[in-house]
Amino acid sequence: MTLPEPKEWLLDEENELRIEIDFDTKVKLRLVTGTAEIFGTELGQNVDYEFSGRKIAVFTWHGCKILITGTCSVEYIANETPMLSYLNTHIALEQRRVLATQNNKAGPRIMIVGPNDVGKTSLSKMLLSYALRQSRQPIYVDLDCSEGSITMPGCLTATPLTEMIDVEEGFGSSATSAPTAGSAVMPLAYYFGFPSPKDNSKLYSLLLSRLAQSVNRRLEEDEAARTSGIVIDTNGLIDATGYEIIAQCIKAFSVDVIIVLGHERLYADMTRLHQKSGVAVIKLAKSGGVVERDTAFRRQTQNQKIREYFYGTSKSELAPYSTMINFHDIEILRVGEGSLAPSSALPIGEDRKVSETHVVNVEPSENLLHSVLAVSNADKRVEPDILETNLAGFIYVSEIHDARKKLTVLSPCPGRIPKKFWWLGSLKWAED
Ligand code: ADP
Repeated sequence: MTLPEPKEWLLDEENELRIEIDFDTKVKLRLVTGTAEIFGTELGQNVDYEFSGRKIAVFTWHGCKILITGTCSVEYIANETPMLSYLNTHIALEQRRVLATQNNKAGPRIMIVGPNDVGKTSLSKMLLSYALRQSRQPIYVDLDCSEGSITMPGCLTATPLTEMIDVEEGFGSSATSAPTAGSAVMPLAYYFGFPSPKDNSKLYSLLLSRLAQSVNRRLEEDEAARTSGIVIDTNGLIDATGYEIIAQCIKAFSVDVIIVLGHERLYADMTRLHQKSGVAVIKLAKSGGVVERDTAFRRQTQNQKIREYFYGTSKSELAPYSTMINFHDIEILRVGEGSLAPSSALPIGEDRKVSETHVVNVEPSENLLHSVLAVSNADKRVEPDILETNLAGFIYVSEIHDARKKLTVLSPCPGRIPKKFWWLGSLKWAED
């Protein structure tokens, strides 16, 4: 088989090459001369980076030459980008960090808000990468439960970053089973289990508070993280529920900078609602390169995430372990079903609230096949504490042996799975 001829791209200063790569193709990218970065992380010269199922921008401040081998579904150079305004925002945030270091105060606590597909995660990566490039150690808080930049979709996470974010792997995918790219420390993950906060707003709010407590404690103990601050990536909800979550988040994490991406009305509302309490509200333009992702693309990204969690990436392959487990050694739990008390015994509206955080057992059955379950770190089932216990990792149910009352699971770690309580959310994955 002959390899396709590499295609050469010459970029002038402050240009970016935007490419989209399908899930069933692999594309190699090499920086030949000059300097370039992908979402804030600098590329090494003459290193081959491989991508599949991604939409990315290779940006250069001073000009560069890039070679692309393989077929991209979209490829073009853009000379109009909002990168200078993003860099200026970083410079202003860095000044706050310098002041925080001098006065032993807290660094900026930044929250990025906006609708879906405006580049919130990409901007989070850039601001974090720029901070890391200045030897800062910021914490990345990911409240977007639909995506799972750090671990699996369905989680609320916080990751103290100490190393550069990987160009190919992003924040890494097996974060809860091993330290991930960009982090020397395990991320903290709480399981929500639904794609949107609206699916169970009471649980979401509970977990958000719990995550904030843990992050605040960490900031108290870790001076480098405290002066570096946090970057909070949010879900794209900007309706009444979204506004409530934003308000709760500002309070819980003591947010002092809100960045509104690509939405005038949201910017006006955020200024009106929060500026008076001393929060700086900044408006930044959406990049013309940000791509809207349809349901099929999101589903494929989710599958890719799950696959990488168990099997790793082509750069760092993992071999998952297959283990047979007795039904009676585990308890599979689900949240938000059934009701503790009959509705008639509760004030109007309260019944749904109670059931939203009610934990119920799920009997193992064929229905569990192909489910991805979150393994809780809890040793005892105490409610509601178990809801707020962080995660040890994830397993995948590959077989159900109903007659023998056993199930076979894949996990990234060898041996018996030492934890008893497993959460069932809405994640399914058919191994290919
Ligand atoms: P949000 O977090 O607001 O939903 P993302 O940052 O995830 O948005 O961006 C949506 C998609 O667009 C992602 O696949 C991302 O990689 C891609 N993207 C973002 N910025 C650019 C750009 N400048 N050029 C090309 N693709 C981009």
